[in-house]
This record gives sequence, structure tokens and C-alpha cells, in this order.
Amino acid sequence: MKPELRNWSGTYAFTAREVIAARTVDDVRRAVAGTDGTDGTDGTDGTASTDGGRVRAVGTRHSFHDLADNGATLVSVTGIAPEPVLDETARTVTVGAGTSYGTLAAWLTERGWALGAMGSLPHISIAGATATATHGSGTGNQVLSAAVAALEYVDADGELRHARRGDPDFNGLPVGLGAFGIVVRVTLDVQPGYLVRQDAYLGLSWDRVLSGLEEVMAAAYSVSLFTDWTGDKLQSAWVKRRVARADEAVPGQLFGAPRATGPVRLIDAPEDNLTPLGVAGPWSQRLPHFRFDANPSNGDEIQSEYFVARSDGPAALAAVRRLAPEVAPLLLVSEIRAVAADELWLSGAYGRDTLAIHFTWRNAPGPVDAVLPRVEAALAPFGARPHWGKVSHVTAGQLGRLFPRLADARALFGRLDPRGRFSNDRLERLGVRAPCGLQPQDYQAPRESRTVAGRWRVRAGWRARR
Ligand SMILES: Cc1cc2nc3c(=O)[nH]c(=O)nc-3n(C[C@H](O)[C@H](O)[C@H](O)COP(=O)(O)OP(=O)(O)OC[C@H]3O[C@@H](n4cnc5c(N)ncnc54)[C@H](O)[C@@H]3O)c2cc1C
Repeated sequence: MKPELRNWSGTYAFTAREVIAARTVDDVRRAVAGTDGTDGTDGTDGTASTDGGRVRAVGTRHSFHDLADNGATLVSVTGIAPEPVLDETARTVTVGAGTSYGTLAAWLTERGWALGAMGSLPHISIAGATATATHGSGTGNQVLSAAVAALEYVDADGELRHARRGDPDFNGLPVGLGAFGIVVRVTLDVQPGYLVRQDAYLGLSWDRVLSGLEEVMAAAYSVSLFTDWTGDKLQSAWVKRRVARADEAVPGQLFGAPRATGPVRLIDAPEDNLTPLGVAGPWSQRLPHFRFDANPSNGDEIQSEYFVARSDGPAALAAVRRLAPEVAPLLLVSEIRAVAADELWLSGAYGRDTLAIHFTWRNAPGPVDAVLPRVEAALAPFGARPHWGKVSHVTAGQLGRLFPRLADARALFGRLDPRGRFSNDRLERLGVRAPCGLQPQDYQAPRESRTVAGRWRVRAGWRARR
């Protein structure tokens, strides 16, 4: 029986009939072109089932719905060796796109180099995270995709293509949603390594946040506010400061909130999953909330997130706060972060300094589905853009207004992949890809001779949730 493939949180069951775990870039090329990316020594006959049908990249499956699915063939590049190449003059690193942020961060740290930003967990793949405009926090920090200086991808004919910053339409590619090809290597901007000290401050008042949001969010390199929206005080503010020395003193208060002196939990999960508080360390072990060597977050959860202009932040936060009685019972925690504006067409922070309002929901799909339209209606006056990888009810018509370059992105993806091989139902439902006519049923079932061993060639441990 075919094993069931689920997303990281277990809340979505993939419908794809085949996953090809590529080991090399040529594997990806052959997979897309219609040969399976192996030489037959693995027991297959060296042919695959894409045959001009739908094929799509899947990353580490941390998205919360069908974004990475297509009912046909998926290709994972997480098994391709990272082989990082550091260019100290250009200040870039080029690395296998399926590499996790945690792996790359450790490699860079050893060499005295750094990324400018990371998401809350280092376990996600670089390709998957950048494809959905994943972000951390910081008024000066852009989405992770903004660090993409160049990428190499396999196009719809199985050819290897290169694109770099400055090329026409490049700004349509880093947040690509898997819609134009399978990215195999990524070049990211790097900077000299730095130390970060992380501290939690407890009980920051809502009045202070709403009356001086910009000042609060700009209080350090990265500030995250955690709340369940109830009461007069937030739960905690996680403040990540770049420090010159490990023993540099940090303030005992943040706008009247005292610094925590003991362990602090973020979510219904053990605190030893979290990166350390109160002691400076390398950027790679402080910017993510969760440790690379531990299980992140709660796991049994659903996530949603919305992006508003930071100038609208206080009003947007006040609107969500009014929903606290409905929201809080379903919530594990909410996180409020800042993201700097960028020019990437499908970025949640396109063209505006942004406040990101995130919800980690209990795994209660029915009630969460019921409350989301209420949250979205409250945030609609602020032109709230949904996170591409998280659950929302926002429709194609709304997205067209929320992402001013969506039509340009759709046209670009259509030019790069005219037959819609990399499209899927979700992208078409949301108007990111025009309906292309290719359907999952165009999937060519493998001939018997294509061997059972070749089916679900999922590398060991791939199904493990974490
Ligand atoms: C516990 C948890 C914490 C999170 N924290 C954050 C956070 O701090 N900030 C934030 O913004 N988001 C966060 N997310 C969301 C997460 O970063 C995104 O869902 C991201 O897309 C996950 O990357 P992935 O590799 O799992 O991609 P997948 O979910 O596997 O795929 C996502 C998209 O990327 C595309 N893709 C994947 N690989 C490639 C490739 N090689 N070439 C082309 N396209 C590709 C897929 O086709 C799909 O469209 C979190 C999610 C979880 C579960």
C-alpha cells in the first residue's frame, strides 16, 4: 500500500501519486523531462511518469495546505547535496535549494559569515521558504526571499536556467510559489557573522504597543510580540539584539515590561526546544525561535498570517483584539512581527513596511475555518495580504487587489511554463496561474515495468513529521 504523505503538522494529506527524491540536478532535469532521474540501478527502468504532465517541487512540507501538491508527480530537491560555495567578494553563498536554513546557517557560522534574517524555525528548506516569502522579524529585515541574489531552476522542458538580480522580471521569481520551475540552487546575500542576544520581556502593556507600535517594533534588531489577544498585557516580547560583545549589558525593562530571568515558554511545547535566552551567541542560534536540534513548535497546529502596512498596524491590532473572545479559545499563540518593505512581486511586504499578524491555532479545522472569515473581515479594511503557505479564505478577486503585481507574476509564470506543468489547483483557484488545461488526470500511470520500487521514492525518514 502506498504510504500516506502529510504536511509537517499532519493537517494535510497529499494527493500526489508519486514523489521523486532527486539526488542530483540531473535527476531533477530527467524527472521533469519524463525520465525518472535514476540510471536504473535503484531497481527502476530509468523512466518516470511525468511525460509532459504535471510536476511540481515540494520542500520540507511545512506549508499548511495543498500549495505544494498537484495530484500527480512531485519532485523533492532536499536530498541534493548542499555543496555551498561562498563568494566573500560578492558577499554571497550559493547552495543547494533543498538545504535547510539550519544546515546552511551552521556552515556559514563556522566560516564567520551570516544571513541577515531567519524564520522562526531553521528546519524549513531554503527553496520552500523563499518561494512563499517566509520572514522573521525586524523593522530593517526583509522577507528571506529578498536575500535571493540568483537562482538556478529546471524549466518545463527539463532545461537548467539561471536568473539573477537585475535581470528583467527577476523580482517575480524569488517568491515563485513553485509556479515556474524547480529551483535547484540558490544564491543568497551574506554578511560577516555577528552575535545576538535574545531576551524575553513579560507583560508589555497593550496601551504602550498601540500608542507607539513603530518604536516598540524598532526597539532591537528583531522584536516579536506574543499574545492571545486577551487582557491589558501581552504575554511576552522576544527581543533579539545584535551585540558587539558577549557580555554587553541589555536593559532590564522594555517600555515598562521586566526582563524574564527564568525559562519562558512560547507555545504549548517544551521550553528546551527554544533558542537560549539571556546569553549572547551566534546569529544562527538566536534568530530562529526554535533550535535546529529539537522539535520545533507544537506540531499539532494550524497557522494563518496576515500582512498589513505598519502604519495601519495599531488599528489592525485593535480590530483583532476586539475578536479576542472568539479567537483566544482556538489559539495556541499569536505572534506580531515587523518586516521591511521589498520589491518582490508576490511578497507579503511588497511596497510597504509591514506588520505581520500571525495565528498558531489549535488543530481544530472546523472552528478555525469558522473564525478565519471573522479575522479576515476585521483585517480587510487594512488590505491584509495572506501568507502563501498558511491557511486563509482570501479569494482570487481579493488577491488581485492585495498584490498589485499579481497579474505580472501570472503573465511571467505563463511565459515560462505555457503548458502549466508546474501549476496546481491552488494556484489556479487563487489566480496565480491561469487555468492551463493540464489536469492531475493527465498523469501517466507508470507502466508495470516502471517497477514498484520506483513509486514513492521517498528518502528514509521523509514521512517523519519532524
Ligand atoms: C512550525 C512552523 C513555523 C513556521 N514559521 C514561519 C515563520 O517564522 N515565518 C514565515 O513566514 N513562515 C513560517 N512558516 C511557514 C513556512 O515557512 C512556509 O510554509 C514555507 O513555505 C515552508 O517551506 P517548505 O520547504 O516546507 O515548503 P513546502 O511547504 O514544501 O512548499 C511550499 C512552496 O514552495 C515551493 N517549493 C518548494 N521547494 C521548491 C523548489 N525547489 N523549487 C521551487 N519551488 C519550491 C512548493 O512548490 C510550494 O509552492 C512556518 C511553518 C511551520 C510549520
